[in-house]
Amino acid sequence: MADVRTRSIGARIREGERSFSFEFFPPKDAAGEEQLWNAIRDLEPYRPTFVSVTYGAGGSTRDTTVSITGRIAKETSLLPMAHLTCVGHTRAELEGILDAYEGAGVSNVLALRGDPEDGPRGEWTPTPGGLTYASELVELVARRRGLHVGVAAFPEGHPSAESLDRDAEVLVLKARAGAEFAVTQMFFDADDYFALVDRVRSLGVDIPILPGIMPILNLRAITRQGELIGCAVPQRVLGSFDGLTEPAEIRANGIRLATELCQELLEGGAPGLHFYTLNRSRATRDIFEALQITV
Ligand code: FAD
Repeated sequence: MADVRTRSIGARIREGERSFSFEFFPPKDAAGEEQLWNAIRDLEPYRPTFVSVTYGAGGSTRDTTVSITGRIAKETSLLPMAHLTCVGHTRAELEGILDAYEGAGVSNVLALRGDPEDGPRGEWTPTPGGLTYASELVELVARRRGLHVGVAAFPEGHPSAESLDRDAEVLVLKARAGAEFAVTQMFFDADDYFALVDRVRSLGVDIPILPGIMPILNLRAITRQGELIGCAVPQRVLGSFDGLTEPAEIRANGIRLATELCQELLEGGAPGLHFYTLNRSRATRDIFEALQITV
C-alpha cells in the first residue's frame, strides 16, 4: 500500500495502469457528510487509482477540502487528490493551502483557475495579488517537491476559449508548466474526447488525458448544466430518452449510455475513466457491473 500511496497519479497512468477514479464534492451538512462517507466506503473495494475532492469558491470549502482529503489519506486505503482554484486567493494564500494539503498527507493536487461568479462564460478578473491562469497555479504546485499536479481538459473546448485549437494549446501550456495528467469535463460523444487527444498529440505533447464520465440520471439537469459549461447532449442521446416515463427506465437508459461510452473510450485507447459520482456510489457500481469490472 505504501508504494501506491507515494507514487504520483501521472506516473501510475504512464506505467500502463488502467486508471479508475472517483470524484466527490465537500458536503454542506451532516446528512451530506454521511452520504459522502457511505459513497467513499462503497467504492473503496474497487481500489481506484485515486479519488478527488472538488474545491468551491466559498471561503468555508477551503477547510472542508483539506479535511476530507486529509481524512481519506489517514482513514482509508485510497489515494486522495485535492482540487484547488485561484478564485479569491492571493498567491500567498494559495501557498498556505498547499502547505495545509501537504500537512494533511495529500500529495496530489488538481490545479484549476475556477469560474467567475457568473459562470465559466463570464469575464474573469484575477484577485489582486493572485493568479490569472491555471498554468500559473500548476507552476506553483509543481515547484514543490512533495506535490504532483493534474489539470482540467475540455473535449468540446472551454466555453471561453477562442477555438478548439487554442483550447488544446492551453492544455499543452499546462503540461509544459508541470501538469502530469489531465481530467476532462463531462461529454457524451467519444469522438470529442479522441479529437482532443489528437489535437494535443499533434502539438507534440503526450500528457495522459482521463475522460470524465457523468451518467445521465436526470436529463433536464444534465442538459442545463451542459449549457452552462459548454457540453452538448447529442441528439442521438436525447432521442434515446424519448417515450421513457418511468424513473427506473430513465435511469437504466442513462447507465446503458454511460457504459457504452466507457466501452468505446477504453477500446479506443483511453488510459482510464474518471467518474463524477455526485457523492453517490450506485451509478458507478452499476456501470462497473455492466463493464464487468469487479471488486
Ligand atoms: P485555465 O486553464 O486557466 O483556462 C481558463 C480560460 O483561460 C480558458 O478559456 C483558456 O483558454 C484561457 N487561458 C488559459 N491560459 C491562457 C493563456 N496563457 N493565455 C490566454 N488564455 C488562456 N471548478 C471549481 O471551482 N472547483 C473545482 O473543484 C473544479 N473541478 C474541476 C474538475 C474538472 C475535471 C474540470 C474539467 C473542471 C473543474 N472545475 C472546477 C471548473 C473549472 O474551474 C472551470 O472550467 C474554469 O472556468 C476553467 O478552469 P481551468 O483550470 O481550465 O482554467
